[in-house]
Amino acid sequence: MTTEPRLRIAMQKSGRLSDDTQALLKRCGLKLNVSDRRLLAHVTNMPIDIMRVRSSDIPGLVMDGVCDLGIVGDNTLEEAALERALMNQKSKYIRTSGLNFGGCRLSIAMPEGFDYTGIESLNGLRFATTYPQLLNRFAKNNGIDVEFCLLKGSVEVAPRVGLSDGICDLVSTGATLEANGLVEVEEIFQSNASLIQTANALVPEKQAILDTLLPRIQGVMKAKE
Ligand code: ATP
Repeated sequence: MTTEPRLRIAMQKSGRLSDDTQALLKRCGLKLNVSDRRLLAHVTNMPIDIMRVRSSDIPGLVMDGVCDLGIVGDNTLEEAALERALMNQKSKYIRTSGLNFGGCRLSIAMPEGFDYTGIESLNGLRFATTYPQLLNRFAKNNGIDVEFCLLKGSVEVAPRVGLSDGICDLVSTGATLEANGLVEVEEIFQSNASLIQTANALVPEKQAILDTLLPRIQGVMKAKE
């Protein structure tokens, strides 16, 4: 028995991008039930499977060709690409479409009262961040040296407990920074969600599914504008 090839799409299992991603796929006409605990959800009316994973796993799954498509924040994507390039791992993908949700910026923030006079004020300081590669690239491009400590969450608390001088973290409204006595001093990366695709050629059956899906995604994005 031969099984029909199914297009595999990686999306965030739960978090800031998951509701918008699910809503997008539903508006494209995909019938899926992701309310159960299954990490691989079948779309019942199209040959598509949805793999629900941590956001940070999505770039690698697409770059390694495990998933054909992924929906992920540009910040996560760029960080993963820089990290993999550093380790000489395959970091190729195609950014098929920008999506109009998940908007945020990666910024450097310092405790209130810090005497900020320009980027050189950050030279030699230590930053808590989830995005060391993006921070490192910013530092290199601006001719400064910085240290970092890696935190996967609650980054804003680091300066107050003496772990770092400042932070480099995602901001949307700035309310969390303010609540933690921090002031944004430099925006280093702007991000939205993107649809990415494996750089490997898709088999014709999968390409045909993508050719049906892509105009629908673009139509939904246009309607939201
Ligand atoms: P996961 O827990 O799935 O490994 P994560 O820790 O990045 O990933 P979330 O905090 O849900 O999970 O963020 C997912 C993505 O949402 C971010 O990578 C970013 O692209 C986007 N985003 C939009 N606004 C914000 C914000 N204010 N703070 C953090 N992320 C934001």
